[in-house]
Amino acid sequence: MEETRSLATVRPDPDAQFEALVKKIQENTHFDVGRIRAAYEMARLAHTGQFRRDGSPYVTHCIAAADISVDIGLDEDSIIAALLHDVIEDTSLTHEDIARQFGPAVADIVEGVTKLTRVQYTSKEDEQAENLRKMLMAMAKDIRVILIKIADRLHNMRTMAYQSPEKQKTKSLETMEIYAPIAHRLGMQRAKWELEDLALQYLDPDGYKEITDNLTKRMPELEAFMDSMRAKIMARLESEGVQATIFCRIKHVYSIYRKMYAQKLDMDGIFDLCAFRVIVDSIPDCYNVLGIIHDMFKPVPGRFKDYISTPKPNMYQSVHTTVIGSEGIPFEVQIRTWDMHYTAEYGVAAHWKYKMGASAGSSLREGDEDKFAWIRRLLESQQESDASDFFHNLKVDMFADDVFVFSPKGDVINLPAGATPIDFAYSIHSDIGNHMVGAKVNGRIVTYDYVLQNGDIVEIRTSKSAPGPSRDWLNTAKSGSARTKIKQWFKKERREENVQRGRDMLDEELRHNGLTLDDVMDEAVVSPLLKRFSFTCPDDLYAAIGYGGLTATRAANRLRDELKNQEPKRKTALDKVAEAAERRESQAQKKEGKAVHGILVQGLSNCLVKFSRCCTPVPGDDIMGFITRGQGVSIHRRDCANCQQLLSQPENEGRWVEVSWASKITDSYLTTIVVSAKDRSGLVMDVATVLNALNAKVHSLSARTTGINIGIVTVTLEVKDAAELRHIISRLSHVNGVSSVTRNGM
Ligand code: MN
Repeated sequence: MEETRSLATVRPDPDAQFEALVKKIQENTHFDVGRIRAAYEMARLAHTGQFRRDGSPYVTHCIAAADISVDIGLDEDSIIAALLHDVIEDTSLTHEDIARQFGPAVADIVEGVTKLTRVQYTSKEDEQAENLRKMLMAMAKDIRVILIKIADRLHNMRTMAYQSPEKQKTKSLETMEIYAPIAHRLGMQRAKWELEDLALQYLDPDGYKEITDNLTKRMPELEAFMDSMRAKIMARLESEGVQATIFCRIKHVYSIYRKMYAQKLDMDGIFDLCAFRVIVDSIPDCYNVLGIIHDMFKPVPGRFKDYISTPKPNMYQSVHTTVIGSEGIPFEVQIRTWDMHYTAEYGVAAHWKYKMGASAGSSLREGDEDKFAWIRRLLESQQESDASDFFHNLKVDMFADDVFVFSPKGDVINLPAGATPIDFAYSIHSDIGNHMVGAKVNGRIVTYDYVLQNGDIVEIRTSKSAPGPSRDWLNTAKSGSARTKIKQWFKKERREENVQRGRDMLDEELRHNGLTLDDVMDEAVVSPLLKRFSFTCPDDLYAAIGYGGLTATRAANRLRDELKNQEPKRKTALDKVAEAAERRESQAQKKEGKAVHGILVQGLSNCLVKFSRCCTPVPGDDIMGFITRGQGVSIHRRDCANCQQLLSQPENEGRWVEVSWASKITDSYLTTIVVSAKDRSGLVMDVATVLNALNAKVHSLSARTTGINIGIVTVTLEVKDAAELRHIISRLSHVNGVSSVTRNGM
């Protein structure tokens, strides 16, 4: 198991506890132990006569907080500040006293921690928001304040058993709602998990016990499973020559708890209790291992996540997948490099760890440093600017995808970056958004497209007689929820207007496609679309387009496709040719026998024959017949792609008939060929010239350019037979720049 806690436990003798800490610091860092020792002396003297609830000297808590600070990788000033973190609050020492001996930086950190300590947690929402605001401000000033506060809270939670039940509940709630999310935001996964599990223990003791009891009971089975999977994966990775370290663990209690509640499952319904972590040396190895794991086990669809190419905002990187192991037990695998691993475990604090060069439990080696270029860059920028700039930038990066703003009452509203007053208004309530007539930010009137900044205080002015949202708001709003609410308003309030507007939009879109509303508003064409969206009449369709629930493009495309499907039933140029041929054929039939359109259908005489439009066969082609529903036999080329697909569908078995060309053919046949060429001016002209010279009966010719400078000329023409067609194709192939000439249906 990986998560063995190397963190110090409270010892009754403070001096011995401190010496153990000194030893740890000397083994892992180059810190000035003299300064740290002096800080301990100051704290010990200041807290003399003060005791913890468990009876131990108060300073043991300070040592423990410093110890956790070492574990999470904080710097020398932070360790000193951690030792002194309660002296301003609980003793007669002042900021000046600390500044005189340890410098203003340490004194500022201690003062910052003190301010946070004075923030009283409350379950009242507005006060809670104010607390969070203070924390964010403190964090913006010096992130070490928060990190030490997290260390402080972690130790207090570990020793919470000695507190009154009431205090246990309040502190746990605060931990769950404020400290664990902040730890998560800072990427400190390990601290976050421990805080959550400790808090859960007091917030829902029964739920916590149910899970831990069950885990204890199943531990032998789970451990056997993990051992065998680990050995299996390890053996395979070794045989593939991949150097890797595999950790496995039982998921932390709170994550199981959350899952049970979210999915309304009991403990037996939760299968993926085990998580594996494969740690490798390089990013290519990560993807290599992913491939190997997916080859060994069946991946669970939808569970693959690539946070390497797209890191989380808190800098977390890994690839995640869930696979099915032996006996059908799913388990999660996280794959990452060592530097991703440290960042995941310690988050922001990992910066100091790397700065120290090497540290506790890390396998950071000389020469590894290039892998941490991004951290070096951050540290270099720190040298050029002052520390507060560094932390400010760090803060901006961390919250890059979110902006925190305040209501006039002090509620913290979390919106996506780029959000505007419109997003803010709708996040409070749809009614506020729908009745908005103006917005103020920090007391100044702003336009609706003002981009909200962290810490802005936003005030929305509303009026009962407000005209309601305008359509521009759909573009100005950044959050999906605001846009949804705006669309809902349009849907409800403005049906008449929407119908008119939607009809105009659809008409315009159809015109782009060379169609009109009249073309498509035929019962047969429009009804599948209405049915698809559960509209009862075309007005519903227009209204939906009008309020933005359905785009005009999408509706027009569907209508156009439907029109195409219906085409065989309508009169087209092809049908007219076919009809003419039919008339001639019926006369020819009297002489020749059973042929229709020059086609003989085996076993059937005088049946309806139709040439498929997908491959337009001509005499001489190898053909086969497909019995359609109600439209006779459709004739395909044997090499037609469409025909191959129909052939592969088992339900079409028995619908194929042998067909052949009649011996004497007098008709011409329509067919289509596609000329691809390097796009150049005069291409179409040259193609047309060749066709003209060959006396080809061209029915239509169209040209288009694809994005990669390829000109495509599609020609539909009448030919006697395949030989004539081959001749035409061969001639066209010699046109300057032509790369291929193919028949359709291929
Ligand atoms: Mn404390």
